[in-house]
Amino acid sequence: MATQILLVEDEAPIREMIRFALAREGFDILEAGDVQAARTQIADNSPELLIVDWMLPDASGVELVRGLRRDPVHRDIPVIMLTARSKESDKVKGLDSGADDYMTKPVAIRELLARINALIRRSQGHQDAEEINAGPLTIDLAGHRLLINGESIHIGQTEYRLLKFFMSHIDRVYSRAQLLDFVWGQNVYVEERTVDVHILRLRKLLKPFGADKMIQTVRGAGYRFSTKIENEVKA
Ligand code: CA
Repeated sequence: MATQILLVEDEAPIREMIRFALAREGFDILEAGDVQAARTQIADNSPELLIVDWMLPDASGVELVRGLRRDPVHRDIPVIMLTARSKESDKVKGLDSGADDYMTKPVAIRELLARINALIRRSQGHQDAEEINAGPLTIDLAGHRLLINGESIHIGQTEYRLLKFFMSHIDRVYSRAQLLDFVWGQNVYVEERTVDVHILRLRKLLKPFGADKMIQTVRGAGYRFSTKIENEVKA
């Protein structure tokens, strides 16, 4: 599958030039002309890399990146910041804007491609090595599969994402609304009861292995994933 890149730039000619060059290299390009549109794209599509212009009409690219770094779901997405002036470049270098790399305009396409490839290699190398473990459960991130006691278990897409989220945030309580935001995406309008349906399916899947108790109902609050199995508080 093609690597998806979100290009956040308000100047249409520059956006078009970069989009054209990257699409030719086989990248799948999403576009946004302002911070608001970028946030929607990130929530809906979880792109694998962001190219963000510093100066955007509704807020600065830096604000977008800072917000991204606080988002538990998307904080690891690599970002290349584009700046118009060397003064801005200095700030990107000096401040903790949260960008992984930066380039000054006018953008040299070959240099941009080299930086994109370097960042993607870095983040994929990181992912390949990674698996998430909790008790008998292992999420094999590269293989996109669930293993229980080392054995691969069939799991639905939504249950996989839900479990992956839980296992990445052990012992923290999340409300149904938060789970919808983090797992389903911020712009997906589904009822909170949907969460309960998928929790039920996940528990059913884990029950033969005694792991269903790791998904705990917290009365009046939501759900928590924990390796410390205790008597569940009934909702
Ligand atoms: Ca701009």
